[in-house]
Amino acid sequence: MKTIVMKFGGSLLASPHGIGRVADLVVRCGREGSQVVAVVSALGEVTDLLLRAALDAVDNDAKKIDEAIHDLKFIHSSAIEQISVKPDEKWALNRATALALEELKRTLLGVSALGELSPRSRDLILSFGERLSAPILAAEIETRGVRAPTLTGGEAGIVTDRSFGEAVPNAALTNRAVRKSILPRLATGEVPVVTGFIARSTDGEVTTLGRGGSDYTATLLGAALKADEVWIWTDVDGILSADPRIVKGSAPVAKLSYPEAEELAFFGAKNMHPLALGPARTNHIPVRIKNGFRPDFPGTLITDRRTRSEGIIKAVAVVRSVGLLTVAGETLQGRPGIAAKVFSALASAGVNILMISQSVSEANIGMIVRRASLRAAVRALRRELKKEGISVMLESDPRVAVVAAVGAGMRGEKGVAAKVFGAVAARGINVRMIAQGSSEMNISFVVDENDAEEAVRALHSKAVRPRAGKRRR
Ligand code: ASP
Ligand code: MG
Repeated sequence: MKTIVMKFGGSLLASPHGIGRVADLVVRCGREGSQVVAVVSALGEVTDLLLRAALDAVDNDAKKIDEAIHDLKFIHSSAIEQISVKPDEKWALNRATALALEELKRTLLGVSALGELSPRSRDLILSFGERLSAPILAAEIETRGVRAPTLTGGEAGIVTDRSFGEAVPNAALTNRAVRKSILPRLATGEVPVVTGFIARSTDGEVTTLGRGGSDYTATLLGAALKADEVWIWTDVDGILSADPRIVKGSAPVAKLSYPEAEELAFFGAKNMHPLALGPARTNHIPVRIKNGFRPDFPGTLITDRRTRSEGIIKAVAVVRSVGLLTVAGETLQGRPGIAAKVFSALASAGVNILMISQSVSEANIGMIVRRASLRAAVRALRRELKKEGISVMLESDPRVAVVAAVGAGMRGEKGVAAKVFGAVAARGINVRMIAQGSSEMNISFVVDENDAEEAVRALHSKAVRPRAGKRRR
């Protein structure tokens, strides 16, 4: 019998009759002969709402705390209203929701009283999203005649360290605890409904795995259970070859390798947790991204296998809200250690560098950083390089974007760069900076922000092989 871990995203759950739709998907998969573990996100934007409430609590804004509790009550009671459980069970669910919200309110008031939000309290507050959504789905699954116990991530066995906000799972402890808590339930035909995103530390505190962490919960459970597959149910057809708001002809990519999918996850093609694919990759568990509104559509399948059937470049992504920083001057040439000084100045200011390029003449170093940290980056460089007595020219441009072509098939393939830059040049777009990692899985380049969408379209039409939708012979 197959074991499948299925994760359901917040927007799918919060869509009209979303919880009923999801319960049907779970039950159908069970009827077709698989053992299923369901992992849920918080409904819709509930995690954002909780985060805002936590920040308002620090500001001691009692009115905003009440509003947040009111909104959460409304969101969850509307979801409960829509499901098909009996009236007395609805009453019980509403009652459990109200109790949880009282606990949340006490926590928020505690934060208010202290005027301080510790990472630990923040995690506790954020955990309410999934703790509120899971019992609703579980109840709806049970009306379809399948027992569905609700478990928090901690109860399911996900054990982490105490780095609140981005807690690191302990694989050995987690594997053992997950098997102990989940396997007996699967053996008796139950469908455990596990809260995504939340875990517990070795000393029993509530931790979270970082934003978007429910995907990670699913792959961690999948790895521990040696599941046959992990399915990520969302509200789009899979990982798309480009943002459909930019490219009309974008289409879901049928197959990706783990590293390709990781590249695309970084570029935000799907807001997947950056570490989510790790446990699946290590344990060779295929991951499917599927559309809950079109369950029979195959979606995107992510596996070990490198497939070239869909062309060399599989997807084109864009990263906005970045800035270009150029350090130039003769002082850079032939002086070992300068690059290290530049990077450590930025590191000391907490600036993350997304992209780096230096030509062999060493006359300048170009870097891409988040736009929000561009000014801090310039200031840190001025200060630190001056201290070292190094004079350079610094230029910064906040109006740029990074475009990236992704596909493992580029490796060792000749003419890819010509195709990429030919397509962009043909539209009269100036390329400001280029980087290709030696993995040759992605070519990234920087253009003016105003040119970014046109560059994506140019590349998509010239370099990505059109497929999906069109039937293949
Ligand atoms: N609810 C959490 C978040 O919004 C986790 C998730 O949805 O995956 O970040
Ligand atoms: Mg979410």
